[in-house]
Amino acid sequence: MSTLRFIRLIVSLIVFVLFAYLASRHQHFVTPERAEKVSLNDTASVAAIAETHPKDARELALELPDTLLPFCRGLKTRKEVALSFDACPTSGKNQFNRAIANILLETKTPATVFLSGRWVEQDTAATRLLASDSLIELGNHSYTHPHLTHITLGKMRKELERTQKIIADLTGQRPFLFRAPYGEVNDTLINVARELGLATVQFDVESGDPDTTFTAQRLIKWVTEKSRNGSIVIMHINNRGWHTAQALPTIIQFLRDRGYILVKVSALMKQVSEELLPGALAHSDVHRGKDVPNRK
Ligand SMILES: [Zn+2]
Repeated sequence: MSTLRFIRLIVSLIVFVLFAYLASRHQHFVTPERAEKVSLNDTASVAAIAETHPKDARELALELPDTLLPFCRGLKTRKEVALSFDACPTSGKNQFNRAIANILLETKTPATVFLSGRWVEQDTAATRLLASDSLIELGNHSYTHPHLTHITLGKMRKELERTQKIIADLTGQRPFLFRAPYGEVNDTLINVARELGLATVQFDVESGDPDTTFTAQRLIKWVTEKSRNGSIVIMHINNRGWHTAQALPTIIQFLRDRGYILVKVSALMKQVSEELLPGALAHSDVHRGKDVPNRK
């Protein structure tokens, strides 16, 4: 055998062995058993990721479908109520109703407080106090408290952006909830808020606490009678409510006695998201998939 023929033979052998090896690997990947194994492993790893990185309240709030915004109440099937307080900017010195903050903290009542940027600037100590306990979540209530649906889109955006920055700079917390002044919303405003990472929140129980004719007894009766499963109650923490602090302990006790769990607005949102969102459903499917025994 000539040297040339010998080399050709060796090269052919190497090529054949290499080809056979690659073919066997390829076949290994496409067998049904392998395919199932890969998908089960993937499911397990997705489940592991979902468990270690569950969607946080911010993500879930911002994933709410347009049809659910503004968010006015939680699920009717859960005995939960969210107390919310607005801090609108007001003229005059004492614009922080500290007694309300004290009651919330003493009674360990979670609550959502919507701050206007100007209010924050006027009382940074109050803002820090509210931000210091995780029982209280902070929301955005515009900067100057204008009729937002009557101003230009540019001004609208500035009102919200400015307040986001003020609250974040002072507290390190970037709000993801927004409440419009005077409860005035339209689609443009909801979209602007959304672009800035804010979900718009309304309410279904208007306490009426700025009404000077509302006594504490009347406030207690009104709020506790109107609250239902998933309700969001609106009150004020800027001394705009005349008897809010006086009525609040009884409102809290009364609702708890009736079996309601008091939660933050974001908790109501989270439950709605988990029940309705396709992503959230896929999340629970993953968990179900994880429990499926060996399918062999
Ligand atoms: Zn307000």
